[in-house]
Amino acid sequence: MNQVFENMRRNARPSILVVEDNDINREILCEVLSDTYNVFEAEDGAVGLELLTAHYNELSLVLLDVYMPVCDGFEFLRRKRRDERYAAVPVIVATASDAIEDEIKCLELGANDFIVKPYNTQIMLNRVNNMIHLRESASIVNQLTWDSLTGLYSKVFFYRTVEDVFAAAPNESFDLVCSDIDNFKTLNDRYGEEACNRVLVMLADHMAQTLEDVIVGGRIGGDTFAFLTKHQDPESWESKLSSAANDMPVPNVGVKFGITEDVDHDIPVPQLCNRSMSAIDTVKDRGGFAIAFFDDEMHQRQLIEQVIRESMETALEQRQFSVFYQPKHNVQTNTIGGAEALVRWTHPLLGFVSPGLFIPVFERSGFITKLDMFVWEEVCRELRECIDKGLPIVPISVNASRLDFDVPDLPKKIAALADKYGIDRSLLHLELTETAYSENPEAVVEALKDVRELGFSAELDDFGSGYSSLASLNTLPLDVMKLDMSIVQQASELNDFRIVEAAINLAQVLDLKTVVEGVETEEEAKRVSDLGCDLIQGYFYSKPLRQDEFEEYLRR
Ligand code: C2E
Ligand code: CA
Ligand code: CA
Repeated sequence: MNQVFENMRRNARPSILVVEDNDINREILCEVLSDTYNVFEAEDGAVGLELLTAHYNELSLVLLDVYMPVCDGFEFLRRKRRDERYAAVPVIVATASDAIEDEIKCLELGANDFIVKPYNTQIMLNRVNNMIHLRESASIVNQLTWDSLTGLYSKVFFYRTVEDVFAAAPNESFDLVCSDIDNFKTLNDRYGEEACNRVLVMLADHMAQTLEDVIVGGRIGGDTFAFLTKHQDPESWESKLSSAANDMPVPNVGVKFGITEDVDHDIPVPQLCNRSMSAIDTVKDRGGFAIAFFDDEMHQRQLIEQVIRESMETALEQRQFSVFYQPKHNVQTNTIGGAEALVRWTHPLLGFVSPGLFIPVFERSGFITKLDMFVWEEVCRELRECIDKGLPIVPISVNASRLDFDVPDLPKKIAALADKYGIDRSLLHLELTETAYSENPEAVVEALKDVRELGFSAELDDFGSGYSSLASLNTLPLDVMKLDMSIVQQASELNDFRIVEAAINLAQVLDLKTVVEGVETEEEAKRVSDLGCDLIQGYFYSKPLRQDEFEEYLRR
């Protein structure tokens, strides 16, 4: 699309190349044309070719005399025809009124139109205008319709053509398959645009050739294609698509295919493509080739996701969110040593919605930053209440999402809330996950520095669940490391706590306090205490508690 606008903009004042040896004729032509066009002048065919080579990109037309010294009009046309890049530039040839043979020869050599000498300026201008207009409409339609790289339909045209197919065959059964290349951006950086363009072309060709009964194919995103085919068995999909990932021009290209079977003709085509793409999401984590079908479960999830999106803003206004607190047990003092704030949503229609379900939706939509600010304020309010009620006070940690680090001055905003409620900043901890760090390392490091300089503590959440653990421990300014619950649960299953021990030792070397999460049994609590961890969080001590239950817990 951009390219089209680019061309339209460029052509706001089109350029014309005038190739004419007669000085007077050339001056007259240039004089008349320069009111409307940028004019390049050439006194013979050789100069004309030079200018064509330099400016073919911006030229809308060549006005060409036939008989010239050095290189005549025929020779000009012959050479122009040898280079494909010049094909888009049309040529109007000026001939004498009785020169039919010349006209025929020029036509054979690729001329597009003629004007008769001596020039009649009005006729000449009309011919020129018409030719330029015709060429531009053709090129715009062309670019809107086809993707120039793969030859598939453009997104808009794909959607439109699929609608036409549905209208023409209302009782036919169709499947819609989308493809997506793993980490295409990384591939581009690593192997260069040219090699990756070849990957795209190969994949498009492969799909167009191996899928029988392809009806329409389109490029609907940078590295995503969509094909509408006649309905077929799931088994045949697998066998047809599986060879696509082989024979790629660059190594290790993973390709995922998502298929919506027997599509409902009443659903808008972009939504059908979304369905196939969300099937792809379910196999994104797998390496190499994978194929997935859009099914009822995904459909249900999409519906819920839609409800979530539609109701989240009101939910915040109507205070449907509340904050629960899960105690962290201090091993040394054998009392509560802190708590984690965990958000809860009681939806008027859906009832209790799990954070595991709505947090990812909020993260995709950006709403999470608003919710997290709400949680910070609730936590400050709760700490104030505890202080006012004379309860024992413990630090409370709040979860931060990746997007929170895009919020300008997040640490200052938290500081302002702490001040508003008169809370000592050492009572507020920020929990961040490694994923947040790995997706935006610089911003996270900067924000954490500010967080700590302002007097808050920083905890690394879910340590051991990701891949960049050691790197993040080394570079992040931290106070606490929280060991992911999967590590403890696995240790427990295998009855082998050596990894837990190593992680605690590592934290100690780095001068970090340790929290072990997900401790559910007395045995686990004893094992991790013996290994020297500082705090334990898990169902063995307490589930996340409602505000009043939490205050009760503090009182004990
Ligand atoms: P998380 O930060 O790792 O929080 C710990 C999760 O483990 C909580 O689930 C907690 O209820 C659960 N849990 C605690 N102890 C145990 C245990 O012994 N066994 C088991 N099986 N689970 C235990 P929850 O509350 O459902 O939260 C899920 C995730 O949602 C959190 O994982 C966190 O990433 C996110 N989340 C929750 N509240 C917020 C929030 O206010 N803001 C943001 N950005 N994310 C939040
Ligand atoms: Ca957490
Ligand atoms: Ca965690």
